[in-house]
Amino acid sequence: MMEGIVGAPGIAKGSAWLYLSEDLSFERRVVDDRPAEVGRFEEALRASRSELEELADKTAQAMGDEAAGIFRAHLAMVEDEALISGVREVIQREGRNAESALDTVVEQFAAMFETLEDPYLRERAADVRDVGRRVLRHLLGRQAVSLQDVPPDSVLVAEDLTPSDTANMNARNVRALAVEKGGATSHTAILARTLGIPALMGLSGLTQTVHTGDFLVVDAGTERRGRLFVNPPAAELADLDQRLGEQASRRKKLESLADLPAETRDGRRVILAANIGGPADVDAVLQFRGEGVGLFRTEFLFMNATRLPSEEEQYRAYRQVVERLRPNLVVFRTLDVGGDKEIGYLGIPRESNPFLGWRGLRFCLDRPDVFRPQLRAMLRASEGARIAIMFPMVSTLDEITRGRALVAELREELAREGKAIGEVQVGIMVEVPAAAAAADILAHQADFFSIGTNDLTQYTLAVDRTNERVSGLYDSLHPAVLRLVADVIQAGRKAGRWVGMCGELAGDPLAAPILLGLGLEEFSLSPPALPRVKEVLRSLTVPEAEAVAQEALGQPDAQAVRRLIRERFPLAAG
Ligand code: PEP
Ligand code: MG
Repeated sequence: MMEGIVGAPGIAKGSAWLYLSEDLSFERRVVDDRPAEVGRFEEALRASRSELEELADKTAQAMGDEAAGIFRAHLAMVEDEALISGVREVIQREGRNAESALDTVVEQFAAMFETLEDPYLRERAADVRDVGRRVLRHLLGRQAVSLQDVPPDSVLVAEDLTPSDTANMNARNVRALAVEKGGATSHTAILARTLGIPALMGLSGLTQTVHTGDFLVVDAGTERRGRLFVNPPAAELADLDQRLGEQASRRKKLESLADLPAETRDGRRVILAANIGGPADVDAVLQFRGEGVGLFRTEFLFMNATRLPSEEEQYRAYRQVVERLRPNLVVFRTLDVGGDKEIGYLGIPRESNPFLGWRGLRFCLDRPDVFRPQLRAMLRASEGARIAIMFPMVSTLDEITRGRALVAELREELAREGKAIGEVQVGIMVEVPAAAAAADILAHQADFFSIGTNDLTQYTLAVDRTNERVSGLYDSLHPAVLRLVADVIQAGRKAGRWVGMCGELAGDPLAAPILLGLGLEEFSLSPPALPRVKEVLRSLTVPEAEAVAQEALGQPDAQAVRRLIRERFPLAAG
């Protein structure tokens, strides 16, 4: 048995499927037979070429010619005479092995692209490296592994999963996730919650212990820590099957709340909206009766692509969501790249403190080539509907002013082009302590606040949200975080702005009484978590929630806050 951090709740069983990140390390050595080495390189080129041809054809059939374009561009690079003869020459002249010659030449090409003025051409550096990795993989005789290939009824076991790994996952076949790294609000955990798949994170030593084909049971209950059983004895399985049965009947009971309003016993109505990563999540929003979208993490659209999505491509994705959910509000968050979200083709250099670096709105304001098309696509998607544009990672008033000015400029530009625009609010995520402390000031430029407790917790407590070693300290119920939440709600109300929350705390049933009591108006959470939060809210009255919220702010620590809620509201703890 191993213990881990609950990334997404639930119990599940399945067969382990190990996904290990691709190891493309190689030796640099001198070879005796230079022509044979050139032959090896040419063989790897041939294999890469036919792989890319197949990928281009398959993609064109599935998603159209535009989507296949990237593989055709990579094909042209594999066939590029300058690149091929460059590698051949290094092998012949210096007698170096093909891997090392390829690496040198690919880096020379990538560096050359990086010096170019044109941002489109600069992004080609990532493509050259991608092509280089493909050829290198063939040289090393490695198979490509894809999360598309995960077999049915699997528990996906990995050391770490990047957001783009999981974005390509065949989720239908995954019963649960078990991950060695990461914490409760790392992006893998958030994705698992959106998909309604149980997940355990921070399982140290996992990939050494578990092998593909092992029988696994993931027990991620309502506590912060959960358990992973590897090939458990039959006696324990009876208990598991019973609990799986209970889980199913509990879900059925919650389904019966679907069409009831999110209203307290004494008639206070709040909005229960959903967090999504793209148009594919709208089915779940409708299934769980989300009242619109409180957070559309648009970066997933960018992470699923191999080049910058065009304004038109973004518009189509945004419009699809708006059309399916109107007249409800859809809150689009502008690109939140940086931090733990890497997008190779954007050319963001490695930073030693990426969570404190060139992230979110900071990046977008510096990169109009990325920001303008995204804002235009959002504005266009608003026709005949209600949308909001929300900036992430805001710490100063000036950043919002500049963001708003650009939105205003683009509105005019679109109007001149004869494009119709609907109702558009412009607000911010409050996820940096500075923004929380100065919320009254930022309210001058923000139509609304949505509190991002995932980052607000990590920045307030100085605990990296993805670092499993300090995950015990990461807790959004820490009174310090709750006090900031209380301040933001108050400042918003005073200025007449609506205040919501799209961080994971909004989906925690234990937090619901406190957040209601502090006056939160909108809760935005992963769709499968909506019925449970609604169940808790419907069991409360505003005065009792207000009383417990005030008590919570005065508790010594998060554990005491949890105890308080469990004692006072057993339904929230269940
Ligand atoms: C947050 O920080 O709380 C949030 C909702 O944004 P993300 O998790 O995408 O950083
Ligand atoms: Mg955030």
